[in-house]
Amino acid sequence: MRASAYHISTLKEAPNDAEIASHQLMMRAGMIRKLAGGIYNYMPLGLRVIRKIEKIIREEMDAAGALELLMPVVQPAELWMESGRWEQYGPELLRMKDRHGRDFVLQPTSEEVITDIARNEIQSWRHLPVNFYHIQTKFRDERRPRFGVMRGREFTMKDAYSFDRDVEGAQKSYQIMFDAYMRIFERLGLTFRAVAADTGSIGGSQSHEFQVIADIGEDLIVYDPNSDYAANIELAPAPCLIPERAAPGVSMQTVATPDATKCELVAELLKLPLSQTVKSIVLATEQEGQPATIWLLLLRGDHELNEIKVGKVPGLNKGFRFATEAEIVEHFGCKPGYLGPVGTRLPVRVIADLTVANMHDFVCGANQEGAHLTGVNWVRDLPEASLVTDLRNVVEGDRAPNGTGTLAIQRGIEVGHVFYLGTKYSEALKATFLDENGKPALMEMGCYGIGVTRIVGAAIEQNHDAKGIVWPRAIAPFEVAICAVGWGKSEAVREASEKLYAELKGRGIDVILDDRDQRPGIMFAEWELIGPPVRITVGERGLNEGVVEVLGRKQTEAARVSLADCVTQTL
Ligand code: ATP
Ligand code: MG
Ligand code: MG
Ligand code: MG
Repeated sequence: MRASAYHISTLKEAPNDAEIASHQLMMRAGMIRKLAGGIYNYMPLGLRVIRKIEKIIREEMDAAGALELLMPVVQPAELWMESGRWEQYGPELLRMKDRHGRDFVLQPTSEEVITDIARNEIQSWRHLPVNFYHIQTKFRDERRPRFGVMRGREFTMKDAYSFDRDVEGAQKSYQIMFDAYMRIFERLGLTFRAVAADTGSIGGSQSHEFQVIADIGEDLIVYDPNSDYAANIELAPAPCLIPERAAPGVSMQTVATPDATKCELVAELLKLPLSQTVKSIVLATEQEGQPATIWLLLLRGDHELNEIKVGKVPGLNKGFRFATEAEIVEHFGCKPGYLGPVGTRLPVRVIADLTVANMHDFVCGANQEGAHLTGVNWVRDLPEASLVTDLRNVVEGDRAPNGTGTLAIQRGIEVGHVFYLGTKYSEALKATFLDENGKPALMEMGCYGIGVTRIVGAAIEQNHDAKGIVWPRAIAPFEVAICAVGWGKSEAVREASEKLYAELKGRGIDVILDDRDQRPGIMFAEWELIGPPVRITVGERGLNEGVVEVLGRKQTEAARVSLADCVTQTL
């Protein structure tokens, strides 16, 4: 590629709505251009990166035995009605009508369509297992699209769906995908963590997220640095647990109990010392292994978070998820972002036997004692940077789930998510096959997503400096930029640059030759912003001594090397 024939369009300043480094740098480097809120044009430079990410994903999915197909973006509403998600999904699902008044959706995910394919295509146990995937445009009408491609409304996802004869087979398929995801994120050059996660609106019972570690991440991860334990505290959009189904006979009405009471109640149940006023409470699920566990985080202190405690309520079963903000407002009558009165000390009530049944009562509304539990969204009320530090300091040395080790908290960006679905969709859509005895049986399913376009933002969050992007080589738009200084004036520069360019290209290196005859300062600043891992400067002065300058994007001093050496150095 020659820069003179390419579209390089950098900006000095990022637009005002770009709040975080990756969004600012993607705009400034000319990778994306905004079309509407959460909807972006991927410009040639941005698309190069997206294609490189897709290539790595494809290679690993194919190697794991998954089969690529392509399902439509527009899907008929009937399938969503069959699965029940036409009602359940809420305003994130973009719905539309065709000219005949028939309902359609713009797909946010493809469980319904793939299950429809499976029920039509798979008749016998001999056709199983099978795993289909596609890399396709998704649309989710996010309540708060922000951070550029990180939380877009239109975005690209790789989604895969496995079908198996039995639970054992499905677990194997899940593990194969889990392992493939580990390889994918390693190859992408990202620092990440696989964490136990909530299953959200997709449903199912076992799930892991792949979180890229970054301070601007919307998720909080609790982990033990010395063991495999890691889980998502799912604080976004609003940290509150309610059961997926209300327990029979439980009313969803709010009893006006201040949060302090609820927190003290939980503290008592968990046998935690309560020396200070409890400020807030956050609840999260951990679904690895049986039975599922609910984690209760008690945050104490009057105006600052100065202590965090983690408690465990054993013996609870599945069926919990985080409520959306709308649900919290509806069920508990509180304002979005509501914080209970701080500094109120109220008598502690003791509930003798905490069982699955009365826990249901707590989390979904009033129990007979007139108390209820909710989480509150404290994140929004604190400056984000201080929150990260505070939590890190606070948890240092605390015990983790099994009573050993130390607990730590990090922020993460969810870039991948694997679910074991069981028969949720095959049952709803009647996707059966004939087993070895000729009897119809439901297919066991799993689904596996990767946020392709979100990865671009996440990678930049982890890899940038004051000057611009510092690409991991595997996904850099170009691996090497040759900066020809004095292109217009010097025959020697032109000749040496062309030779170098041809040689690097010949060796399969993704190289761009900057032949635009720009002033060196401008040219260097532009390539520092765009961020290829290696820059080679060819100038007349160096050539007189038989050398060019090679500068790694992470280095500050260029190395003067001979033309021949510079090729081997950049390989
Ligand atoms: P989030 O919690 O960030 O809203 P999600 O849990 O709703 O994500 P999934 O349904 O698990 O997302 O979808 C699989 C992957 O798609 C996610 O892991 C993420 O990488 C990506 N993704 C989801 N929503 C968006 C979005 N609005 N913009 C870009 N990528 C997204
Ligand atoms: Mg979401
Ligand atoms: Mg999520
Ligand atoms: Mg998810």
